[in-house]
Amino acid sequence: MPFLVLEPRTSAVPVVGHVPHASTAIPIGVREEILLDDEALALELVRLTDWHTDDLFEWLRDRGATMFVNQLSRLVFDPERFADDAQEPMAAVGQGAIYTRTTSGELLRELTAEQRARRMAELFVPYQAALSELVGPILARAGRCTLIDCHSFATLPLPSETDQDPDRPDICIGTDPFHTPAALADGLERAFRAEGWRVRRDSPFSGCLVPLDRYRRDRRVASVMIEVRRGLYCDESTGKRLPAFAGVRAAIERAVAASRLLDWAPLGVELAAGDRDDSARDVGGSRRGREDEGSG
Ligand SMILES: [Zn+2]
Repeated sequence: MPFLVLEPRTSAVPVVGHVPHASTAIPIGVREEILLDDEALALELVRLTDWHTDDLFEWLRDRGATMFVNQLSRLVFDPERFADDAQEPMAAVGQGAIYTRTTSGELLRELTAEQRARRMAELFVPYQAALSELVGPILARAGRCTLIDCHSFATLPLPSETDQDPDRPDICIGTDPFHTPAALADGLERAFRAEGWRVRRDSPFSGCLVPLDRYRRDRRVASVMIEVRRGLYCDESTGKRLPAFAGVRAAIERAVAASRLLDWAPLGVELAAGDRDDSARDVGGSRRGREDEGSG
């Protein structure tokens, strides 16, 4: 399986932390099709890997969230892209679901349509299905599910990135107009600013992952992306952690906890005391918008 599901360490909350880009693992069969020597491949991994994001957000399990962690490098397949290149803007630079170009535009691999389809069927499709299968029972149990899409980004824009403005924030909050309640993103922005960081919304990256079968259909799925600038916590020429790592991780945890992201009710389902247990909820009952509570 190309992913790991890590259970919460305390009583569960309806939150899934998704970590798509932390791995550097490339199976031998996939390595063979990559047209780069070891040095060039190492450079590409340094640039593209969201280093240590599995660890940076690992505390989510201590607060009741389930983690869904990709075990393969995004150079094998990228679960954050649309399956169909025609729908995927990054396919224009050879970085759709299966990358064909490097960050500097060189040829990474050449696959026939048939080979690509096989790779998608073996990895991308089961990955998306497993994420859906994780979210489904949470919705059935809690009536809602919040996805936190956990990423990091390079301090200097990569040549392949759409946004080339060298002035980048420390934290980027990615949102979706359907799945990210404004108050949720506002609260998160405020909490990260309170930690002394420069925060921007949907810049330099926008959007957030939602399981495809719920995408733009099911408002009970809330989602938000948190992108951390890598220079805060790692040496961007090697991917190695800086001494600041633990402090950055603690600050992210404080900010997310302060933002109330972990007890968010996307449908405005009233959160009663003791709501964090696993009992089934009647989501057909009356609701009042959490947005009405003036949380921002
Ligand atoms: Zn990422």
